[in-house]
Amino acid sequence: MFRKILIANRGEIALRIQRACRELGIATVAVHSTADATAMHVRLADESVCIGPPAAKDSYLNVAAILSAASITGADAVHPGYGFLSENAGFADMVEAHGMTFIGPTAAHISMMGDKITAKAAMASLGVPLVPGSDGAVPDLETARAVAEAIMYPVLIKAAAGGGGRGMRVARSPADLEEAFTGARNEARSAFGNDSVYIEKYLDKPRHIELQILADSFGNVVHFGERDCSLQRRHQKVLEEAGSPAISPEQRDALGATATAALRQLGYRNAGTLEFLYQDGQFAFIEMNTRLQVEHPITEMVCDVDLVREQIRVAAGAELGYTQEDVTFSGHAIECRINAEDPVTFMPTPGRVTEYHAPGGLGVRIDSALYAGYFVPPHYDSMVAKLIVHAPTRAAAIARMRRALDEFAVEGIKTTIPLHRRIMDAPAFQAGDYTIHWLEGFVGT
Ligand code: ADP
Repeated sequence: MFRKILIANRGEIALRIQRACRELGIATVAVHSTADATAMHVRLADESVCIGPPAAKDSYLNVAAILSAASITGADAVHPGYGFLSENAGFADMVEAHGMTFIGPTAAHISMMGDKITAKAAMASLGVPLVPGSDGAVPDLETARAVAEAIMYPVLIKAAAGGGGRGMRVARSPADLEEAFTGARNEARSAFGNDSVYIEKYLDKPRHIELQILADSFGNVVHFGERDCSLQRRHQKVLEEAGSPAISPEQRDALGATATAALRQLGYRNAGTLEFLYQDGQFAFIEMNTRLQVEHPITEMVCDVDLVREQIRVAAGAELGYTQEDVTFSGHAIECRINAEDPVTFMPTPGRVTEYHAPGGLGVRIDSALYAGYFVPPHYDSMVAKLIVHAPTRAAAIARMRRALDEFAVEGIKTTIPLHRRIMDAPAFQAGDYTIHWLEGFVGT
Protein backbone atom coordinates (compact mmCIF):
# COMPACT_ATOMS: atom_id res chain seq x y z
CA MET A 1 0.00 0.00 0.00
CA PHE A 2 1.08 3.60 -0.57
CA ARG A 3 2.60 5.60 2.29
CA LYS A 4 1.87 9.09 1.00
CA ILE A 5 -0.47 10.37 -1.73
CA LEU A 6 -0.33 13.78 -3.37
CA ILE A 7 -3.82 15.02 -4.28
CA ALA A 8 -3.60 17.12 -7.44
CA ASN A 9 -6.88 18.96 -6.89
CA ARG A 10 -8.79 21.37 -4.66
CA GLY A 11 -12.19 21.85 -3.03
CA GLU A 12 -14.58 19.10 -2.05
CA ILE A 13 -12.91 16.39 -4.12
CA ALA A 14 -9.52 16.99 -2.51
CA LEU A 15 -11.22 16.55 0.89
CA ARG A 16 -13.03 13.45 -0.33
CA ILE A 17 -9.74 11.83 -1.34
CA GLN A 18 -8.05 12.89 1.92
CA ARG A 19 -10.79 11.17 3.88
CA ALA A 20 -10.24 7.88 2.07
CA CYS A 21 -6.46 8.19 2.56
CA ARG A 22 -6.82 8.86 6.27
CA GLU A 23 -9.01 5.81 6.78
CA LEU A 24 -6.40 3.71 4.94
CA GLY A 25 -3.59 5.15 7.11
CA ILE A 26 -1.99 6.97 4.14
CA ALA A 27 -0.43 10.43 4.61
CA THR A 28 -1.68 13.23 2.33
CA VAL A 29 -0.05 16.11 0.49
CA ALA A 30 -2.28 18.99 -0.63
CA VAL A 31 -1.26 21.33 -3.43
CA HIS A 32 -2.76 24.79 -3.68
CA SER A 33 -2.67 28.08 -5.55
CA THR A 34 -2.01 31.34 -3.71
CA ALA A 35 -5.79 31.98 -3.81
CA ASP A 36 -6.38 28.74 -1.85
CA ALA A 37 -3.80 29.19 0.94
CA THR A 38 -6.51 29.03 3.65
CA ALA A 39 -8.74 26.48 1.90
CA MET A 40 -10.07 23.50 3.85
CA HIS A 41 -8.19 20.96 1.71
CA VAL A 42 -4.95 22.67 2.75
CA ARG A 43 -5.91 22.91 6.42
CA LEU A 44 -6.80 19.24 6.73
CA ALA A 45 -3.87 17.75 4.79
CA ASP A 46 -0.77 16.39 6.50
CA GLU A 47 1.44 18.58 4.31
CA SER A 48 0.81 21.22 1.69
CA VAL A 49 2.77 22.86 -1.11
CA CYS A 50 1.95 26.10 -2.94
CA ILE A 51 2.17 25.41 -6.67
CA GLY A 52 1.51 28.82 -8.20
CA PRO A 53 -0.71 31.84 -8.69
CA PRO A 54 -4.56 31.71 -8.79
CA ALA A 55 -5.11 30.99 -12.51
CA ALA A 56 -5.57 27.21 -12.91
CA LYS A 57 -3.18 27.10 -15.87
CA ASP A 58 -0.39 28.35 -13.57
CA SER A 59 -1.24 26.14 -10.57
CA TYR A 60 -3.63 23.16 -10.71
CA LEU A 61 -2.67 22.55 -14.36
CA ASN A 62 1.04 23.23 -13.77
CA VAL A 63 2.51 19.77 -14.31
CA ALA A 64 6.10 20.71 -13.46
CA ALA A 65 5.09 22.36 -10.17
CA ILE A 66 2.90 19.41 -9.16
CA LEU A 67 5.60 16.85 -9.96
CA SER A 68 8.15 18.89 -7.99
CA ALA A 69 5.74 19.03 -5.04
CA ALA A 70 5.35 15.25 -5.21
CA SER A 71 9.12 14.68 -5.34
CA ILE A 72 10.07 17.00 -2.50
CA THR A 73 7.40 15.57 -0.21
CA GLY A 74 8.29 11.97 -1.10
CA ALA A 75 4.79 11.02 -2.31
CA ASP A 76 4.57 7.57 -3.88
CA ALA A 77 1.27 8.12 -5.73
CA VAL A 78 -0.82 10.94 -7.20
CA HIS A 79 -4.63 11.08 -7.18
CA PRO A 80 -5.90 13.56 -9.79
CA GLY A 81 -9.57 13.81 -8.67
CA TYR A 82 -11.83 15.06 -11.49
CA GLY A 83 -11.29 17.98 -13.88
CA PHE A 84 -7.85 19.64 -14.05
CA LEU A 85 -5.24 16.96 -15.00
CA SER A 86 -7.43 13.91 -14.36
CA GLU A 87 -7.85 13.04 -18.05
CA ASN A 88 -4.46 14.23 -19.24
CA ALA A 89 -2.57 11.20 -20.56
CA GLY A 90 0.71 13.14 -20.66
CA PHE A 91 0.40 13.89 -16.94
CA ALA A 92 -0.33 10.23 -16.12
CA ASP A 93 2.78 9.26 -18.11
CA MET A 94 4.96 11.85 -16.37
CA VAL A 95 3.82 10.74 -12.91
CA GLU A 96 4.79 7.15 -13.74
CA ALA A 97 8.06 8.27 -15.39
CA HIS A 98 8.97 9.93 -12.08
CA GLY A 99 8.59 6.61 -10.26
CA MET A 100 5.17 7.32 -8.74
CA THR A 101 1.81 5.66 -9.32
CA PHE A 102 -0.95 7.54 -11.12
CA ILE A 103 -4.23 6.56 -9.44
CA GLY A 104 -6.29 5.94 -12.55
CA PRO A 105 -6.15 4.01 -15.81
CA THR A 106 -3.14 3.72 -18.14
CA ALA A 107 -2.16 6.72 -20.25
CA ALA A 108 -3.09 4.69 -23.36
CA HIS A 109 -6.68 4.20 -22.13
CA ILE A 110 -6.93 7.86 -21.10
CA SER A 111 -5.95 8.96 -24.63
CA MET A 112 -8.22 6.44 -26.30
CA MET A 113 -11.26 7.65 -24.35
CA GLY A 114 -10.21 11.31 -24.35
CA ASP A 115 -10.82 11.44 -28.09
CA LYS A 116 -14.51 10.68 -28.46
CA ILE A 117 -14.03 9.44 -32.02
CA THR A 118 -11.52 6.75 -31.00
CA ALA A 119 -13.61 6.00 -27.91
CA LYS A 120 -16.72 5.35 -30.02
CA ALA A 121 -14.78 3.23 -32.50
CA ALA A 122 -13.30 1.15 -29.66
CA MET A 123 -16.68 0.62 -28.01
CA ALA A 124 -18.37 -0.26 -31.32
CA SER A 125 -15.71 -2.90 -32.00
CA LEU A 126 -16.45 -4.38 -28.55
CA GLY A 127 -20.17 -4.68 -29.24
CA VAL A 128 -21.40 -1.60 -27.38
CA PRO A 129 -24.27 0.19 -29.22
CA LEU A 130 -23.66 3.80 -30.32
CA VAL A 131 -25.79 6.84 -31.13
CA PRO A 132 -26.08 6.77 -34.96
CA GLY A 133 -23.68 9.20 -36.60
CA SER A 134 -20.65 9.78 -38.75
CA ASP A 135 -18.07 7.07 -39.10
CA GLY A 136 -15.23 9.02 -37.49
CA ALA A 137 -14.21 12.65 -38.01
CA VAL A 138 -16.10 14.88 -40.44
CA PRO A 139 -13.45 16.90 -42.32
CA ASP A 140 -15.58 19.38 -44.27
CA LEU A 141 -19.05 20.81 -44.80
CA GLU A 142 -19.73 18.65 -47.81
CA THR A 143 -19.18 15.45 -45.82
CA ALA A 144 -21.26 16.92 -42.98
CA ARG A 145 -24.17 17.45 -45.41
CA ALA A 146 -23.97 13.89 -46.65
CA VAL A 147 -23.89 12.44 -43.12
CA ALA A 148 -26.79 14.63 -41.96
CA GLU A 149 -28.89 13.59 -44.98
CA ALA A 150 -28.15 9.94 -44.24
CA ILE A 151 -28.97 9.97 -40.51
CA MET A 152 -31.64 12.67 -40.93
CA TYR A 153 -32.03 15.98 -39.15
CA PRO A 154 -31.82 17.13 -36.39
CA VAL A 155 -28.12 16.39 -35.95
CA LEU A 156 -25.50 17.38 -33.38
CA ILE A 157 -21.99 18.46 -34.33
CA LYS A 158 -19.62 17.47 -31.51
CA ALA A 159 -15.96 18.14 -30.78
CA ALA A 160 -13.80 15.00 -30.62
CA ALA A 161 -11.91 16.53 -27.69
CA GLY A 162 -15.11 17.92 -26.12
CA GLY A 163 -15.89 18.15 -22.42
CA GLY A 164 -18.02 20.20 -20.05
CA GLY A 165 -20.74 20.47 -22.69
CA ARG A 166 -18.59 22.69 -24.93
CA GLY A 167 -17.99 22.35 -28.65
CA MET A 168 -21.50 21.07 -29.39
CA ARG A 169 -23.99 22.59 -31.88
CA VAL A 170 -27.41 21.41 -33.07
CA ALA A 171 -28.49 21.68 -36.70
CA ARG A 172 -32.25 21.19 -36.98
CA SER A 173 -32.38 21.51 -40.77
CA PRO A 174 -30.00 21.85 -43.78
CA ALA A 175 -30.22 25.65 -43.39
CA ASP A 176 -28.57 25.45 -39.92
CA LEU A 177 -25.78 23.11 -40.89
CA GLU A 178 -23.08 25.48 -42.06
CA GLU A 179 -23.32 27.70 -38.99
CA ALA A 180 -23.44 24.73 -36.60
CA PHE A 181 -20.48 23.04 -38.28
CA THR A 182 -18.28 26.14 -38.31
CA GLY A 183 -19.42 27.17 -34.82
CA ALA A 184 -18.58 23.76 -33.30
CA ARG A 185 -15.22 23.72 -35.07
CA ASN A 186 -14.26 27.20 -33.90
CA GLU A 187 -15.33 26.53 -30.32
CA ALA A 188 -13.43 23.22 -30.32
CA ARG A 189 -10.31 24.92 -31.64
CA SER A 190 -10.34 27.67 -29.04
CA ALA A 191 -11.44 25.51 -26.08
CA PHE A 192 -9.42 22.35 -26.73
CA GLY A 193 -6.80 23.27 -29.34
CA ASN A 194 -8.25 20.54 -31.58
CA ASP A 195 -10.92 21.28 -34.18
CA SER A 196 -11.77 17.69 -35.07
CA VAL A 197 -15.57 17.22 -35.04
CA TYR A 198 -18.02 14.39 -35.65
CA ILE A 199 -21.78 14.13 -36.10
CA GLU A 200 -24.48 12.32 -34.15
CA LYS A 201 -28.20 12.11 -34.52
CA TYR A 202 -29.66 14.67 -32.08
CA LEU A 203 -32.02 12.69 -29.89
CA ASP A 204 -35.20 14.55 -28.92
CA LYS A 205 -36.12 12.89 -25.63
CA PRO A 206 -33.24 10.88 -24.19
CA ARG A 207 -32.21 10.37 -20.61
CA HIS A 208 -28.52 10.48 -19.67
CA ILE A 209 -27.77 7.17 -17.98
CA GLU A 210 -24.23 6.27 -16.95
CA LEU A 211 -22.68 3.16 -15.50
CA GLN A 212 -20.01 3.10 -12.78
CA ILE A 213 -17.23 0.56 -13.41
CA LEU A 214 -14.29 -0.56 -11.34
CA ALA A 215 -11.49 -2.85 -12.56
CA ASP A 216 -8.31 -4.26 -11.09
CA SER A 217 -5.08 -5.31 -12.83
CA PHE A 218 -6.09 -8.99 -12.84
CA GLY A 219 -8.97 -8.79 -15.29
CA ASN A 220 -11.70 -8.45 -12.68
CA VAL A 221 -14.31 -5.88 -13.73
CA VAL A 222 -17.51 -5.08 -11.85
CA HIS A 223 -20.17 -2.41 -12.24
CA PHE A 224 -21.99 -0.54 -9.49
CA GLY A 225 -25.14 0.20 -11.39
CA GLU A 226 -26.42 3.29 -13.13
CA ARG A 227 -26.84 6.95 -12.34
CA ASP A 228 -29.49 9.06 -14.03
CA CYS A 229 -27.94 12.45 -14.82
CA SER A 230 -30.66 13.80 -17.09
CA LEU A 231 -31.18 17.00 -15.09
CA GLN A 232 -28.81 19.27 -16.98
CA ARG A 233 -28.40 22.89 -17.94
CA ARG A 234 -26.24 23.70 -20.97
CA HIS A 235 -25.24 19.99 -21.10
CA GLN A 236 -23.90 20.22 -17.53
CA LYS A 237 -25.28 18.02 -14.76
CA VAL A 238 -27.26 19.73 -12.00
CA LEU A 239 -28.77 16.81 -10.04
CA GLU A 240 -28.23 13.05 -10.24
CA GLU A 241 -30.08 9.96 -9.00
CA ALA A 242 -29.11 6.33 -8.33
CA GLY A 243 -30.86 4.31 -9.60
CA SER A 244 -32.65 5.74 -12.54
CA PRO A 245 -36.43 6.00 -12.19
CA ALA A 246 -36.65 4.79 -15.81
CA ILE A 247 -34.51 1.62 -15.67
CA SER A 248 -35.49 -1.83 -14.40
CA PRO A 249 -33.05 -4.13 -12.56
CA GLU A 250 -33.06 -6.39 -15.65
CA GLN A 251 -32.03 -3.50 -17.92
CA ARG A 252 -29.28 -2.57 -15.45
CA ASP A 253 -27.98 -6.16 -15.47
CA ALA A 254 -28.00 -6.33 -19.28
CA LEU A 255 -26.23 -2.98 -19.72
CA GLY A 256 -23.76 -3.93 -16.99
CA ALA A 257 -22.95 -7.23 -18.68
CA THR A 258 -22.24 -5.52 -22.04
CA ALA A 259 -20.12 -2.78 -20.46
CA THR A 260 -18.05 -4.98 -18.16
CA ALA A 261 -17.37 -7.46 -20.97
CA ALA A 262 -16.13 -4.60 -23.17
CA LEU A 263 -13.81 -3.20 -20.51
CA ARG A 264 -12.50 -6.65 -19.63
CA GLN A 265 -11.54 -7.14 -23.28
CA LEU A 266 -9.91 -3.74 -23.33
CA GLY A 267 -7.81 -4.57 -20.25
CA TYR A 268 -9.08 -1.41 -18.54
CA ARG A 269 -8.17 -0.81 -14.91
CA ASN A 270 -9.27 1.52 -12.09
CA ALA A 271 -12.55 3.48 -12.03
CA GLY A 272 -14.42 4.57 -15.12
CA THR A 273 -17.85 5.65 -16.24
CA LEU A 274 -19.58 4.77 -19.49
CA GLU A 275 -22.12 7.39 -20.50
CA PHE A 276 -25.19 6.48 -22.54
CA LEU A 277 -28.25 8.18 -23.91
CA TYR A 278 -31.40 6.14 -23.32
CA GLN A 279 -34.46 6.60 -25.50
CA ASP A 280 -37.29 4.31 -26.64
CA GLY A 281 -35.89 1.42 -24.62
CA GLN A 282 -32.44 1.59 -26.26
CA PHE A 283 -29.07 2.54 -24.78
CA ALA A 284 -26.50 4.28 -27.00
CA PHE A 285 -22.93 5.00 -25.85
CA ILE A 286 -21.74 8.62 -26.07
CA GLU A 287 -18.48 8.75 -24.11
CA MET A 288 -16.37 7.29 -21.35
CA ASN A 289 -14.85 9.21 -18.45
CA THR A 290 -11.61 7.64 -17.25
CA ARG A 291 -11.72 9.10 -13.74
CA LEU A 292 -13.80 9.55 -10.62
CA GLN A 293 -17.02 11.48 -11.37
CA VAL A 294 -18.48 14.37 -9.38
CA GLU A 295 -21.62 12.28 -8.79
CA HIS A 296 -19.86 9.13 -7.48
CA PRO A 297 -21.32 9.53 -3.92
CA ILE A 298 -24.85 8.45 -4.93
CA THR A 299 -23.41 5.13 -6.14
CA GLU A 300 -21.47 4.82 -2.88
CA MET A 301 -24.69 5.27 -0.91
CA VAL A 302 -26.77 2.67 -2.76
CA CYS A 303 -23.94 0.12 -3.05
CA ASP A 304 -22.31 0.78 0.34
CA VAL A 305 -18.86 1.07 -1.25
CA ASP A 306 -16.03 3.62 -0.90
CA LEU A 307 -15.05 4.16 -4.55
CA VAL A 308 -11.99 6.27 -3.74
CA ARG A 309 -10.69 3.61 -1.36
CA GLU A 310 -11.23 1.07 -4.14
CA GLN A 311 -9.37 3.26 -6.66
CA ILE A 312 -6.41 3.50 -4.27
CA ARG A 313 -6.42 -0.24 -3.50
CA VAL A 314 -6.45 -1.37 -7.14
CA ALA A 315 -3.82 1.24 -8.09
CA ALA A 316 -1.61 -0.24 -5.36
CA GLY A 317 -1.94 -3.63 -7.06
CA ALA A 318 -4.64 -5.22 -4.89
CA GLU A 319 -7.32 -7.48 -6.34
CA LEU A 320 -10.93 -6.32 -6.13
CA GLY A 321 -11.64 -9.35 -3.93
CA TYR A 322 -15.34 -9.53 -4.86
CA THR A 323 -17.44 -10.31 -7.91
CA GLN A 324 -20.52 -8.86 -9.56
CA GLU A 325 -22.75 -11.09 -7.41
CA ASP A 326 -21.37 -9.41 -4.28
CA VAL A 327 -22.48 -5.96 -5.46
CA THR A 328 -25.93 -5.17 -4.06
CA PHE A 329 -28.21 -2.17 -4.38
CA SER A 330 -30.19 -0.72 -1.52
CA GLY A 331 -32.65 2.18 -1.60
CA HIS A 332 -32.37 5.37 -3.61
CA ALA A 333 -29.89 8.26 -3.53
CA ILE A 334 -30.04 11.81 -4.91
CA GLU A 335 -27.28 14.40 -5.23
CA CYS A 336 -27.87 18.14 -5.63
CA ARG A 337 -24.91 20.13 -6.92
CA ILE A 338 -24.90 23.40 -4.99
CA ASN A 339 -23.19 26.13 -7.01
CA ALA A 340 -22.08 29.62 -5.98
CA GLU A 341 -24.41 31.09 -8.61
CA ASP A 342 -27.50 33.23 -8.73
CA PRO A 343 -30.36 30.67 -8.79
CA VAL A 344 -32.21 32.61 -11.50
CA THR A 345 -29.54 34.11 -13.77
CA PHE A 346 -26.83 31.47 -13.06
CA MET A 347 -24.19 34.22 -12.84
CA PRO A 348 -21.30 33.09 -10.59
CA THR A 349 -21.34 34.67 -7.12
CA PRO A 350 -17.82 34.47 -5.68
CA GLY A 351 -17.35 36.14 -2.29
CA ARG A 352 -17.23 35.70 1.48
CA VAL A 353 -19.41 33.05 3.15
CA THR A 354 -20.50 34.75 6.36
CA GLU A 355 -22.59 31.94 7.92
CA TYR A 356 -22.55 28.23 7.19
CA HIS A 357 -24.75 25.52 8.61
CA ALA A 358 -24.79 22.06 7.00
CA PRO A 359 -27.84 19.81 7.28
CA GLY A 360 -27.49 16.46 9.03
CA GLY A 361 -29.47 13.51 10.31
CA LEU A 362 -30.17 10.06 9.00
CA GLY A 363 -29.19 9.45 5.38
CA VAL A 364 -27.71 12.92 4.73
CA ARG A 365 -24.16 13.46 3.42
CA ILE A 366 -22.41 16.72 2.55
CA ASP A 367 -19.27 16.79 0.45
CA SER A 368 -18.05 20.38 0.62
CA ALA A 369 -15.00 22.44 1.50
CA LEU A 370 -17.06 25.45 2.66
CA TYR A 371 -16.85 26.97 6.12
CA ALA A 372 -18.02 30.23 7.74
CA GLY A 373 -15.54 32.94 6.79
CA TYR A 374 -14.36 31.15 3.62
CA PHE A 375 -13.91 33.33 0.55
CA VAL A 376 -15.16 31.56 -2.62
CA PRO A 377 -12.51 32.56 -5.17
CA PRO A 378 -13.62 33.63 -8.65
CA HIS A 379 -10.97 31.56 -10.45
CA TYR A 380 -12.47 28.06 -10.39
CA ASP A 381 -15.61 26.02 -10.96
CA SER A 382 -18.63 27.42 -9.12
CA MET A 383 -19.70 24.13 -7.47
CA VAL A 384 -19.19 24.59 -3.71
CA ALA A 385 -21.12 21.68 -2.16
CA LYS A 386 -22.76 18.38 -2.97
CA LEU A 387 -25.77 17.49 -0.86
CA ILE A 388 -26.45 13.77 -1.01
CA VAL A 389 -29.34 11.88 0.56
CA HIS A 390 -30.08 8.18 0.79
CA ALA A 391 -33.43 6.62 1.76
CA PRO A 392 -35.26 3.31 1.28
CA THR A 393 -37.43 4.61 -1.58
CA ARG A 394 -37.28 7.41 -4.15
CA ALA A 395 -40.23 9.21 -2.54
CA ALA A 396 -38.51 9.08 0.86
CA ALA A 397 -35.27 10.35 -0.71
CA ILE A 398 -37.13 13.34 -2.22
CA ALA A 399 -38.74 14.13 1.16
CA ARG A 400 -35.33 13.85 2.84
CA MET A 401 -33.67 16.10 0.24
CA ARG A 402 -36.46 18.67 0.70
CA ARG A 403 -35.91 18.89 4.45
CA ALA A 404 -32.09 18.84 4.09
CA LEU A 405 -32.25 21.74 1.60
CA ASP A 406 -34.43 23.63 4.10
CA GLU A 407 -31.81 23.13 6.85
CA PHE A 408 -28.87 24.15 4.65
CA ALA A 409 -27.74 27.72 5.40
CA VAL A 410 -25.07 29.44 3.31
CA GLU A 411 -25.05 33.20 3.92
CA GLY A 412 -23.06 35.98 2.25
CA ILE A 413 -23.22 34.56 -1.28
CA LYS A 414 -26.12 33.41 -3.42
CA THR A 415 -26.29 29.68 -4.19
CA THR A 416 -28.48 27.36 -6.25
CA ILE A 417 -30.18 25.89 -3.13
CA PRO A 418 -33.51 27.63 -4.07
CA LEU A 419 -33.39 26.04 -7.54
CA HIS A 420 -33.07 22.56 -6.01
CA ARG A 421 -36.03 23.28 -3.73
CA ARG A 422 -38.10 24.13 -6.79
CA ILE A 423 -37.00 20.94 -8.53
CA MET A 424 -38.01 18.83 -5.49
CA ASP A 425 -41.49 20.40 -5.65
CA ALA A 426 -41.97 19.91 -9.40
CA PRO A 427 -44.57 17.22 -10.25
CA ALA A 428 -42.57 16.04 -13.30
CA PHE A 429 -39.49 15.47 -11.14
CA GLN A 430 -41.51 13.74 -8.44
CA ALA A 431 -42.97 11.43 -11.08
CA GLY A 432 -39.48 10.72 -12.46
CA ASP A 433 -40.83 11.85 -15.79
CA TYR A 434 -38.04 13.93 -17.35
CA THR A 435 -35.49 13.90 -20.17
CA ILE A 436 -32.22 15.83 -20.70
CA HIS A 437 -34.28 18.74 -22.09
CA TRP A 438 -36.67 19.10 -19.13
CA LEU A 439 -34.61 21.32 -16.82
CA GLU A 440 -33.90 23.99 -19.43
CA GLY A 441 -37.63 24.39 -19.99
CA PHE A 442 -38.20 24.47 -16.23
CA VAL A 443 -35.63 27.21 -15.53
CA GLY A 444 -36.49 29.10 -18.69
CA THR A 445 -33.06 29.27 -20.32
P1 ADP B 1 -19.28 16.41 -22.66
O1 ADP B 1 -18.07 15.55 -22.70
O2 ADP B 1 -19.05 17.81 -23.14
O3 ADP B 1 -19.99 16.33 -21.35
P2 ADP B 1 -21.15 14.46 -23.83
O4 ADP B 1 -20.90 13.76 -25.09
O5 ADP B 1 -20.96 13.68 -22.56
O6 ADP B 1 -20.26 15.80 -23.79
O7 ADP B 1 -22.61 15.04 -23.82
C1 ADP B 1 -23.07 15.91 -22.79
C2 ADP B 1 -24.57 16.02 -22.85
O8 ADP B 1 -24.99 16.55 -24.13
C3 ADP B 1 -25.31 14.70 -22.72
O9 ADP B 1 -25.49 14.31 -21.38
C4 ADP B 1 -26.63 15.06 -23.38
O10 ADP B 1 -27.42 15.83 -22.52
C5 ADP B 1 -26.20 15.95 -24.53
N1 ADP B 1 -25.98 15.14 -25.76
C6 ADP B 1 -24.82 14.56 -26.16
N2 ADP B 1 -25.00 13.87 -27.31
C7 ADP B 1 -26.30 14.02 -27.66
C8 ADP B 1 -27.13 13.54 -28.74
N3 ADP B 1 -26.62 12.79 -29.72
N4 ADP B 1 -28.44 13.89 -28.75
C9 ADP B 1 -28.97 14.68 -27.77
N5 ADP B 1 -28.25 15.15 -26.73
C10 ADP B 1 -26.93 14.83 -26.65
